[in-house]
Amino acid sequence: MKAEQKILQDFDLRKTNSRTAILSLFLKKPFALSYSDLEEQIAEDYDRVTVYRTLKTFVDKGVVHKVLDDGGSLKYALCNDLCSSSAHHHEHVHFKCSVCGETSCLDQVNIPQVELPRGYEAREINLLIQGKCQKCA
Ligand SMILES: [Zn+2]
Ligand SMILES: [Zn+2]
Ligand SMILES: [Zn+2]
Repeated sequence: MKAEQKILQDFDLRKTNSRTAILSLFLKKPFALSYSDLEEQIAEDYDRVTVYRTLKTFVDKGVVHKVLDDGGSLKYALCNDLCSSSAHHHEHVHFKCSVCGETSCLDQVNIPQVELPRGYEAREINLLIQGKCQKCA
């Protein structure tokens, strides 16, 4: 079975052309993709609304997670297989390379525990480290 098909099946998602197409873009790239990266690749076949909707479904279901990039822009990356529709289970560090511009998940590197002052409650933690990646170092 193709990887795309297996993921859709695992997450109980109906197979549609747009879902398969977007998933295969994520599977092809080892780094996080922005909306415009995706759009660039499949703009001819799918309209903006379809791409947005597909991404939203993927995030809701735990297929991909949001990656906060520098400048506040948003990217998306595939989740490891622990994620589900009820919870995203990774608090890993993201790394942005200033040379190639790629942002990737460092799945093995956990965000350190952060003590918050009284009255503050964390809902989401993002940690982006910027520098030079393995390839560019
Ligand atoms: Zn996730
Ligand atoms: Zn790099
Ligand atoms: Zn990640």
